[in-house]
Amino acid sequence: MNLIDGKKISNDLRLEIKENVEKIKQETGKTPGLATILVGQNPASQVYIKSKIKACQDAGIQSFHRNLDANSSKEDIIALINELNKTSEVDGILLQLPLPNNEHAQDCVNAISPLKDVDGLHPFNAGLLNLSKSWDEIIKKNILVSCTSLGVISLLNKSNISIEGKTAVVIGRSNLVGKPLSMLLLANNATVIMAHSKTKNLKKLCKNADIVVVATGEPKFLNTDFIKDGAVVIDVGINRTDEGLCGDIDFESVKNTDITITPVPGGVGPMTITMLLENTLKAFKNRV
Ligand code: NDP
Repeated sequence: MNLIDGKKISNDLRLEIKENVEKIKQETGKTPGLATILVGQNPASQVYIKSKIKACQDAGIQSFHRNLDANSSKEDIIALINELNKTSEVDGILLQLPLPNNEHAQDCVNAISPLKDVDGLHPFNAGLLNLSKSWDEIIKKNILVSCTSLGVISLLNKSNISIEGKTAVVIGRSNLVGKPLSMLLLANNATVIMAHSKTKNLKKLCKNADIVVVATGEPKFLNTDFIKDGAVVIDVGINRTDEGLCGDIDFESVKNTDITITPVPGGVGPMTITMLLENTLKAFKNRV
């Protein structure tokens, strides 16, 4: 088994980002800024927000954090987003999901200016991603794409794992992970199968794949039965269990196999936050 060290790749990238922030400050006299919004006090969300704020501070990015009451209405959240849309020091706005009342989540995301949509969840940016024909185009146009999906592509690139011509199965079709990641793999010329809970013959599909990405939120869901020798397996899942944090892969079962894999923790997780910093710089550049 070969491990992809997401923590190391992420740390190296964060040093580059820090240097870029310093350069931007010297050249423009401005400091890129990220606003985070947390509604309520979900403990997992509090941990994520804390890590995002710290990563901003470490990189020299200004951090603006706003906490709203758990019982805030959709209108309250949108009013805050409108205020941040108008704040010139704020380049990116991240609304931490899920909301206590999550049925309003997309309406709230839709209120974020597409120029400040660092999670790539606004229909404008999701549309741009779907219309783009290649990875080059996505990079050249500075399109704001979901951080986790960008993190997975970056992990593959930095590990010198080629994507072109490979068969990739993405298990999960959420707007946050499965769909944008499938589009990014396609833009990198993989042949992509987007699987979900109604997919039939999932084991067989995965067993034929060169790259398997699992983002189901089901602890230890994937084991050796799904993976061929030599495959690359990316574990997006973050699950809190009685035994601690684990991914969607039964890590013990794949330990003695000839696969390349991301651990949990220390794989995709740190890359998601690193890509949030990168997206904040993209948003800054798109706005000047
Ligand atoms: P969602 O719950 O929105 O989506 C889960 C997807 O997995 C759905 O498409 C669902 O199918 C599919 N699925 C669930 N069970 C099965 C199954 N038994 N077989 C096949 N497909 C299945 O979750 P997210 O996409 O938001 O997140 C997925 C995981 O990734 C979670 O563990 C989350 O914590 C983690 N995550 C990690 C991040 C990181 O930085 N590492 C960032 C974001 C998320 P269907 O659509 O049919 O219901």
